[in-house]
Amino acid sequence: TSTAGVDSREFVKTLNPAPATSARRDAILANPGFGQYFTDHMIQIQWTGNIEQGTGQWQQPTLVPYGPLALDPAAAVLHYGQEIFEGLKAYRHDDGSVWTFRPEKNAARLNRSAERMALPALPEDLFLDSLRTLVEQDRDWVPDGEGQSLYLRPFMIANETFLGVRPSREVLYSVIASPAGNYFGEAKAVDIWLSEHWARAGRGGTGAAKCGGNYAASLIAQMEGDAHGCQQVIFTDPDRDEAIEELGGMNVFFVFDDGTLVTPELTGTILEGVTRDSIIQLAKDRGMTVEERAFTLEEWRDGVASGKLTEVFACGTAAVISPVGRLISAQETIGPEDAEPGEVTMSLRKELLDIQTGRGEDRHGWLT
Ligand code: PMP
Repeated sequence: TSTAGVDSREFVKTLNPAPATSARRDAILANPGFGQYFTDHMIQIQWTGNIEQGTGQWQQPTLVPYGPLALDPAAAVLHYGQEIFEGLKAYRHDDGSVWTFRPEKNAARLNRSAERMALPALPEDLFLDSLRTLVEQDRDWVPDGEGQSLYLRPFMIANETFLGVRPSREVLYSVIASPAGNYFGEAKAVDIWLSEHWARAGRGGTGAAKCGGNYAASLIAQMEGDAHGCQQVIFTDPDRDEAIEELGGMNVFFVFDDGTLVTPELTGTILEGVTRDSIIQLAKDRGMTVEERAFTLEEWRDGVASGKLTEVFACGTAAVISPVGRLISAQETIGPEDAEPGEVTMSLRKELLDIQTGRGEDRHGWLT
């Protein structure tokens, strides 16, 4: 899409004097898993300013060797969690070219998160340039195996050395990259655990921001789910506890037999997923009715019982679309055991994956 500003800022590059050998890189790319291995370089841009006074400036953008950060033990982020992040993937197409999917949506979401967490906005051009600079430098790390990708993790941390509780006057923006394996191989339905004791967000809280604390808060529920044999946890609205919100790291959709797709509305307590938005568009393109509204546990229960609710799926950058099998709580189990992935779920999944991997037509101009 937009290439404006590509050359607007020169990144100063310090190349890694000891990059991974191609043998080592190939061994990693053969079986990268997720989030375990990182490329040879990273982006760093430091900001200095005063959010309270509306002043501040991003300093010289740099690309540097991947490695540990030097943080003072009194760095604000370590104490008050002033931190945000993003996640998106770069895919290698069959012709060898490398593409990201709707990165401007991640730029916008990063800035919404930044506003909520009293961090500085990053100009969209600078965000896109940072991804481009890193991917170009470490291009050999973009795997070409089926379903593989290079996961990009932009993040921002408060790195001022100060223990006072106020917005940090020093902030580091960085991007790291990690090859990711095939999440799309088999689409097996996952069982999800209903978190009844723990909420990940509340009214006026940080649920719509992609900040580290939300994920820390979800871990206890995740452990509870694990203990009950569930791979994922679903949260309800703490103020309307029968309303479904989202999973720990994915949004959720419900498919009805009359061709209606329902997904929880954006209430300020759930994350606005890029995949969620894309699915809404693709479903509308197909002529499906899409409803963004409150969806209660009772509707889920009744829909399964009447047979009108035919499919449930979760979606996010990591796994794209995952069929949901059963919803399990301490009181009940909703849905059949060993459900086969549904037709609508699987065809939306294929359509989205085909666009991302260059096998389908990019009719909305989603690839950069
Ligand atoms: N909800 C949460 C809480 C998430 O962490 C994610 C992953 N970013 C999503 C939803 C899905 O968002 P996206 O489709 O942009 O990956």
